[in-house]
Amino acid sequence: MKIEDKLLTPGSAHGRPGTTLNPKGVLVHYVGNPGSSALANRNYFEAGSGGNHVSAHYIIGLNGEILLCVPEKECAMHAGKSYSSEYATMAKTNNSTYIGIECCHPAADGKFNDATTKSLIELVVDMCIRWKFNPETAVKRHYDVTGKSCPLYYVKNPSDWAVLKAKIVAAYKAATAAPAPAPAPAPAPAPAPAPTPQTPSDWAKADWEWAVSEGITDGTNPRDPVTREQCIALIRRSLSKLPK
Ligand SMILES: [Zn+2]
Repeated sequence: MKIEDKLLTPGSAHGRPGTTLNPKGVLVHYVGNPGSSALANRNYFEAGSGGNHVSAHYIIGLNGEILLCVPEKECAMHAGKSYSSEYATMAKTNNSTYIGIECCHPAADGKFNDATTKSLIELVVDMCIRWKFNPETAVKRHYDVTGKSCPLYYVKNPSDWAVLKAKIVAAYKAATAAPAPAPAPAPAPAPAPAPTPQTPSDWAKADWEWAVSEGITDGTNPRDPVTREQCIALIRRSLSKLPK
């Protein structure tokens, strides 16, 4: 995910008052200007938004480009106005509660295209991870906290908003899932048994040396089993040592 630094000039006239934000969630907006670019919308904020002095932290363009306009730790001016009496109190704190993301859209219906949607999901998931937001509850439409029909398409089509939210949650879960445990290493092969030491045992040493000196055995492999033919040869050689 690439984010282009297009910070607004500090100052309320540019929608960047510089007040501290400790964000608790994310609000999704639509720019309301079909076919306009992310940069054009950013420049509109920079120029004072026709005297309204509004802004958002990010603008996502039609090609999926992401522009950073206001640092996440500063308030942006994107949700401070209430559009219904029930939101009047809440609206006063929205700008000091939420990070705002404006999304460009090709047509008047306000539906986001695939490139914009893909970047939106990536950006929101990244934010949820960094700020420890719950993607199920902390990602909202501008509409949800002010009553404004923004983002228009996702207010008119709540089931599509639910689908978009589900994609965000799924991407978040995929990004935060614990890595699969590594397969257990194959057990090391049992060490080969140590070779039988080919020297006579202490208790047999004198007898062995005697047998070697008498020519009864050639002195090799003192601890190996003996065959029947070896046994006969050993007996015969031993008997031949007896006094006649
Ligand atoms: Zn909005």
